[in-house]
Amino acid sequence: MNNSIKEKISIIQGDITGMQVDAIVNAANTSLLGGGGVDGAIHRAAGAGLLAECRTLGGCPTGEARITKGYNLPARYVIHTVGPVYRGRPQDAELLRSCYQNSLALAAQHGLASIAFPAISCGVYGYPVKEACRIAIDTCIGFLEHYENLSRIYFVLFGRPELEIYQQYWRQLTGN
Ligand code: ADP
Repeated sequence: MNNSIKEKISIIQGDITGMQVDAIVNAANTSLLGGGGVDGAIHRAAGAGLLAECRTLGGCPTGEARITKGYNLPARYVIHTVGPVYRGRPQDAELLRSCYQNSLALAAQHGLASIAFPAISCGVYGYPVKEACRIAIDTCIGFLEHYENLSRIYFVLFGRPELEIYQQYWRQLTGN
């Protein structure tokens, strides 16, 4: 991996709703009408405007992504993507990869420079974090290799165990 890509990726622990970036990514469900976990936290922080806009979208299939404004969030936009419920099938990895790819493509289409991802599917959807983090990081690196206008990708992990798993894979890739 070249140094410029290395410098564009940050792995941090925190609450994604506080991120001052162009877009935060929401691990939504197919209804796009809110839920628990990070989805609930984002809707609470964004306020009722977010739900009202989400109602106009008519849902989102698993693996795809939709963009809305950020309302009361510090982030300008929310990119809603629907991760797979983990069942150990090959399609799960493909769908999770699509979530990252489609979210990044939307950010690019809107000319965004910074984006923050939670650990999509790693909560109630049960995806093993070790496998999910490889997909997350590999897909983002692949995207950065072909698209230069995105200057920063944050992976925002809520818990220490998830943070450590991401950091370990990152060290393996970068050798530091
Ligand atoms: P999914 O249904 O896709 O599994 P969850 O919201 O249940 O989504 O969990 C996804 C990940 O988001 C989990 O690792 C969870 O710990 C984390 N998470 C929950 N709240 C927040 C938050 N406010 N900021 C960042 N990550 C969060």
